[in-house]
Amino acid sequence: MAWKTLDDIDFAGKRALVRVDINVPVEDGKVTDLTRIERIIPTVDDIQEKGGKVILMAHFGRPKGQVVPEMSLEIIAPAVADVLGLPVTWVNSDYGDAVAEMDGDEVLLLENLRFNPGEEKNDKGFAKRLAGLGDIYVNDAFSAAHRAHASTEAIARLLPACAGRLMAEELSALEKALGTPERPVVAVVGGAKVSTKLDLLGNLVGKVDHLVIGGGMANTFLAAQGIDVGKSLCEHDLAETAREILAKADAAGCEIILPRDIVVAREFKAGAANETVAPDACPADAMILDAGAATVAYVSDVLDRAKTLVWNGPLGAFEIAPFDAATNAAAAKAAALSKAGQLISVAGGGDTVAALNQAGAADDFSYISTAGGAFLEWMEGKDLPGVAALG
Ligand code: ADP
Ligand code: MG
Repeated sequence: MAWKTLDDIDFAGKRALVRVDINVPVEDGKVTDLTRIERIIPTVDDIQEKGGKVILMAHFGRPKGQVVPEMSLEIIAPAVADVLGLPVTWVNSDYGDAVAEMDGDEVLLLENLRFNPGEEKNDKGFAKRLAGLGDIYVNDAFSAAHRAHASTEAIARLLPACAGRLMAEELSALEKALGTPERPVVAVVGGAKVSTKLDLLGNLVGKVDHLVIGGGMANTFLAAQGIDVGKSLCEHDLAETAREILAKADAAGCEIILPRDIVVAREFKAGAANETVAPDACPADAMILDAGAATVAYVSDVLDRAKTLVWNGPLGAFEIAPFDAATNAAAAKAAALSKAGQLISVAGGGDTVAALNQAGAADDFSYISTAGGAFLEWMEGKDLPGVAALG
């Protein structure tokens, strides 16, 4: 994968159309979490330092091609100005003369792109209209890169294009983890269901040296081997698929690591009475809610010898203690190794990020992706249209 960065393009006297993800949570007209806005600062500052002018393009919510006043980016503009410490002018969908009149370090914020039905259709006409407002296209919204939209794909083909700082950072972290990783590579895949992560498992077994399967997904794999998993979350109809994944791993020389001991309980609630038993000893009236200490010890051992880790999905029902124990322990181990410079660790996924934060491990990971769907599609080995268009 090759992509241009801000360093490869001359911004002096040019207007840069910068696609960002500032799809922030808003309550009562106030932005409640500024993180996504804060993350665009390096790109905006850099372009301005290089003598360019910045026009921000973004989506907000899901207006589905219609004007929905509550989803106007006018609501977000003051927060963007605060965070950037720059004058920010919101521009309605007519665009008008605002671009021609840009003043000093003023930043423009174009109205919610998804008000235009052309955006999500990757419409060339809409992309042309956007491209006409600037000279250079910069994509800094990795989280939107798995969708071919006018502002992520079509426009990149109309102007000199490059990745912004945030996008470049994310791409190099991902490239280090699965593109050209240092081996051995370990993947940890957990979470609720195998059915949502089939492509991901299929891609990983061909790429990594060890694949830890945890959470509810592990139950499906145990059941596929003829083990009775009682009342556990389990997709019995995927037994054949699970066996195929095991066979593919075997052929590729990928070690599959399933739970070596399991924590079982009769209720799905915090503090529920529980015991740790062998993987084939789940009582008929109980469910598997976590992996046990022997599994954690084995995984820690594998991590000790590994150079690279990619992680998606918790190892147990981490929202309810004590069934967060395996996730917390494995996260702490990975964090310590990363901090010591022994491991490159990349993690992503909504619940995964929450679990790693809860475990206090997120800060020490090499890279935490907040990109959700784009991160998962990347783990599935798919080409992301927004990235491909920058090549
Ligand atoms: P992500 O959002 O990071 O991709 P998932 O959504 O796939 O992760 O999985 C997270 C969910 O999986 C959590 O809600 C967690 O409670 C659930 N889970 C993990 N292990 C189990 C289990 N053994 N039984 C039931 N649910 C589980
Ligand atoms: Mg989830």
